[in-house]
This record gives sequence, C-alpha cells and structure tokens, in this order.
Amino acid sequence: MRVVMKFGGTSVGNAEAIRQVAKIVAENHREHEVVLVVSAMNAPDLRTTDTLIAAAHAAAAGDGDATAEVAPRLLAMHMEVASALAKPSDCPALEEELRTMLAYLSNLSRSIAILGELTPRALDLFSGLGERLNARLIAAALRGAGLDACAVDATELIVTDERYGMASPLMDETREQVRACLQPMLLAGQVPVVTGFIGATRDGVPTTLGRGGSDYSCSILGAALDVQEVWFWKEVDGVLSANPKLVPAAHTLPRLSYSEMGEMAYYGANVLHPKTVQPLVQRGIPIHIRNTFNPAHPGTVISNEQSSGTAKAVTAIKDVTLITVGGPGMLGLTGVAARIFGAVARAGSNNLLISQASSEQSVCLAVPRAEAGAAVAELRAELANDFSAHDVEHIGVLECTIIAVVGSGMRGTPGIAGRIFGALGHAGINIIAIAQGSTENNISLVVAPADADAAVQAIHQSFRL
Ligand code: ASP
Ligand code: MG
Repeated sequence: MRVVMKFGGTSVGNAEAIRQVAKIVAENHREHEVVLVVSAMNAPDLRTTDTLIAAAHAAAAGDGDATAEVAPRLLAMHMEVASALAKPSDCPALEEELRTMLAYLSNLSRSIAILGELTPRALDLFSGLGERLNARLIAAALRGAGLDACAVDATELIVTDERYGMASPLMDETREQVRACLQPMLLAGQVPVVTGFIGATRDGVPTTLGRGGSDYSCSILGAALDVQEVWFWKEVDGVLSANPKLVPAAHTLPRLSYSEMGEMAYYGANVLHPKTVQPLVQRGIPIHIRNTFNPAHPGTVISNEQSSGTAKAVTAIKDVTLITVGGPGMLGLTGVAARIFGAVARAGSNNLLISQASSEQSVCLAVPRAEAGAAVAELRAELANDFSAHDVEHIGVLECTIIAVVGSGMRGTPGIAGRIFGALGHAGINIIAIAQGSTENNISLVVAPADADAAVQAIHQSFRL
C-alpha cells in the first residue's frame, strides 16, 4: 500500500529520535510506498520555528543581526545529527546547503532591520525555513540508513492562496503538482522527504499553512496521492480520553470518527492541527496516530466508521473570554444577533461558543482571550445607538474555560447531559453557560478557570471514560 507519514518536531528532535524515525521508515518501506512529511526540529533548548520567528521580529525592531546570531546554533544542531546518522560523504554538501539557506535569511534580516517592517509574506520565509533545513537532514539520515531518500520542498507541491501565515491549499493544482513530482519517485522506490508547514502561491511565493500546519500538509499530500492510509507519529500513544496530566485514568481511544476528531482537535486536545481531517474525509482515507517511541502500540484509528460509546473524551480550552451582551430591549429586537456577530467578525475574532436563552435578554459568546479586547471595542461601536436607547445595557466580559464533552454516540442517547451536569453539581462546580449543537456530538460548558481541572476530572469519572 501507499502511505504518507508525518513525524512531529519532537519526534525529530535529536539524533536518537531521528535514528528511531529512520528505523520506522525502513521497516515500513519494505512493504509499502512511503512519503515522509517532517516538521522543523524541536530540541528542548532550541525550538527552530519559534527561534526563527523571534529573529524575524527582532529584525523588524531594528536588530538586523538576530538571525546571523542564531544561524550557527541552528546549523550546529542539524549538523550534529548529520554527523551521527548521515554518510560522511553526504555531510559536506549538506552543510554547504544549510549554510547557504541560513545566510540568505541573515541577509534578509538585515534588509528588514533597515526597512523597519516585517510583512506577513517575509515572515513566512523565516518561519518556514526550519522545515527546509530538517527535510534535507532527515533525507540524509535516511540515506545513512540505506534508503534512497530525497528532500522535496513543498513549495514545489502545495499550491496555496496568498493568505500569508495562514494559507489554504488550492487542491486541484496541488494534486497535479504532487502527482507529477512524487509519483515517479515512488515508482522508482525512492522515499520523498517533504517539508511540512509550507507551500507557495501560483507565482511561487512561499507561504505557510498556520502554526502546527505540518499535520495539515501531510493530509493534503495524502489526499492528492490517494494514499491508503495517513499516519501521524507523535510522542503519545494516540488520542487520549483526557489530558493525562489532569486525569491519571485517561486512556487511548482505539477508534474515532472524523467528526469526533474534528471536535477534539478544535477543543484543545492538542493532537492534530484542526484542519487535518478535512482533505481526508471526502476520500475516506483513514488516519492512524501512533507513538514514535512506542511503535508497538496500535494507537488510534480515525475513519468514517462510527464507533461505539457515548461520551468519549473530555477536553478543556483555556484562556477564553466570555462576552455577554445584554439589555431589556433585546427581546424581539430583530437583527441584533447578526450585528453582534458581524462586529465580532470585523474584529477578526473567532467565536468558540455561542449561547442565547429564549428570553432573549442576553447573547453570550466565547472568544480566545487575546482577541477579546478588539471584539469588545467593535461591539461597543456597533451597539452605540442601542446603548443610547437603553435597548442594550451592558457588555460583560469574564475569563473562563470551555469544557467540551465529545462523542458522536451521544446523539439520540437520553441522559448524557443529565449525567454531565449531575457530575458537576456533585463536585460543587457552577456552570456559567452551556451550548450544544444539534449534531449532538459535542456538549460544551463554560466554567470558571479555577474549576476547570476539577470539571474535567468529574466528567471523566462519571462516564468512566
Ligand atoms: N514548525 C511549524 C510550527 O512550529 C509547523 C509544525 O510544527 O507543524 O508551527
Ligand atoms: Mg509542531
């Protein structure tokens, strides 16, 4: 079969980890056609993407040497792995190539310092460099392990729109390019090592797909190549029923549906980038999540199949602000909800949860804390006349945590909400707001940040998840 597999930043964080990656790839390559997608290297003391982004911002603030200062450390980190794992004859050319790429960025840094301005387009050149360095390193390490591996920049494969920093793929063009480039390599028995996270516009200008976007890259390639399976190698045994730091009894979920995974990705279970399932759903390509450091564990399989069970997992999104717009005149005031959400959208803020009771005296919505200030300012401007008319009397803000209980088997099963609220009542936890979409695969509640951990624990225990 044909698989595309992605290794996260920590799975490729040092020579030992990359040796393990090479072993996994070599074993699977005996039976399968394998495409590899890699993130930038994440060592505990040197997180490549964060470091490059910080250097770009330092340049914009006037420190044009910031990149030149970190470049030798990045080069050393990559070459140290190369000297352990690559063929000695491969190392000089690799070093030269990485050096040239870092030098280009150091020069760009100096220009940015002179201009005093960092555009999103220039920032993408910085943030995406880690993947380019690492794909070359991993390809060399795989050659060291006897595989015919070759680094490929996704700028040659993934065609995106021009939303720098958060680009979306243009799937038809991407499919054409991916097949033209990777198909012949696979047929020749090669292992393409593709950079995650990056793409390029139709004009060839590099873009990035958003932080953590290598997962998304992997599923874009999987869909474009019609692979049989997409594998994500992580540092955990699959998707867990809750954060194990909070809930020691948390366990790996063997099966999930795409929609359950979509809900969980969104709700803070930091397993896959939220967009990852999108390209695969239509084609029904299953996702496997497995542990690089425990490859014998079967992990989690995510597919179209509905699996048994009601509530499966409970997650928490922290750092959220609940905004409440209320007033006596909102009852029957047609269009007020549209204006409220329009204002929040204009502020560029993302609604995480919406709730309005049928008395219509207030509408509340939750947004990420960092976006709350702008949303409230825009709401005040939009509703200025309603305030003068006393139709709207207050806009309240409250720091909170959203707790989401996920599982598509909750649909049509009576008593689930009762059990959740019962568990929280029993634990003495106050619920501030509630939302459940009519798909019924997610019940979300808002609690005070101080109650969040206890809420997750109480719900997990009540369902013996
Ligand atoms: N290196 C990128 C980031 O840190 C992409 C990824 O890791 O998926 O956001
Ligand atoms: Mg990552």
